[in-house]
Amino acid sequence: MQPLADDIKIWAGELGFLDCGIAKAEFLKDEENHLNEWLQKGYEASMNWMHNHKEKRLDPSVLVPGAKSVISVLFNYFPESERSDPTARIAKYAYGKDYHFVLKEKLNQLALRIQSQTGEFQYRIFVDSAPVMERPLAVKAGLGWIGKHSLLINKRLGSFFFIGQIICDLELKTDSAQTDHCGNCTACIDACPTNAIVEDKVIDANKCISYLTIEHRGEIDSAFKNQFNNWIFGCDICQDVCPWNRFSKPHQEQNFMPTEKMLNYTLEEWEMMTTGEFKKMFAASPIRRTGYKGFKRNLEYVKNKANGRE
Ligand code: SF4
Ligand code: SF4
Repeated sequence: MQPLADDIKIWAGELGFLDCGIAKAEFLKDEENHLNEWLQKGYEASMNWMHNHKEKRLDPSVLVPGAKSVISVLFNYFPESERSDPTARIAKYAYGKDYHFVLKEKLNQLALRIQSQTGEFQYRIFVDSAPVMERPLAVKAGLGWIGKHSLLINKRLGSFFFIGQIICDLELKTDSAQTDHCGNCTACIDACPTNAIVEDKVIDANKCISYLTIEHRGEIDSAFKNQFNNWIFGCDICQDVCPWNRFSKPHQEQNFMPTEKMLNYTLEEWEMMTTGEFKKMFAASPIRRTGYKGFKRNLEYVKNKANGRE
């Protein structure tokens, strides 16, 4: 009989996950210094929650008492086509329905499939939500390496995917970490318009367009004038230039298919949008995170600051 871990990977594939790997639920000692240094330098900007629950963040067995294994999965979000208006760009991950719900549902199905084999076990599902170091855990599970842009890269798949995790009390066969394949490449560092990649694998959120257009509240500093490259929600530049994404293949997930409006609305049409329309259009979209005010602020910033009107 093959080990349960091998079955789990087959079931994950059947549910549409691109890859699945397993790591031991244990203290991530290599991450402790990185996290502390990053926080000491203030690179988390206003994301104060990064200071909270450090112990849980660094050790999945503290986050989920009794946990023995972390099952990590990857799910493709690379779209068939990009938005038609290049003056109002949206990160590809946000074209469809909010990935939190979509992935949680699929992970739940995976957990139930495992339970049908093992009987009841304790587990919790995480998709970019609780204090989980999802990328280092995925590296430990053999799913890739952290690129110089700080995102997970998989040799076969590139980096346009979501990461999800099941932390559970099952003792499972683990995978080995992969080596780093960035080599001498610095394409992401060179292409970042705001110089947010301050060292290999280190992002200063204060300068990152993705942070500034989504998490940041209040005005955006005029120091970034002419540097936003028309991004109104998120930023894909460091992933778009990465050679490992040259062979990205479009996903087939209905939940992530963009609506006609998402693909074709122009900057001017977004500008005319009322609060009610924003709520309706983005009810199930990751874009609602920035709120109507934030979205309008981004549009105005891109339009005026990019065109040198201010
Ligand atoms: S998301 Fe954009 S701004 Fe942030 S590090 Fe990547 S290229 Fe730079
Ligand atoms: S662009 Fe180059 S340096 Fe940056 S993550 Fe990709 S391979 Fe690594």
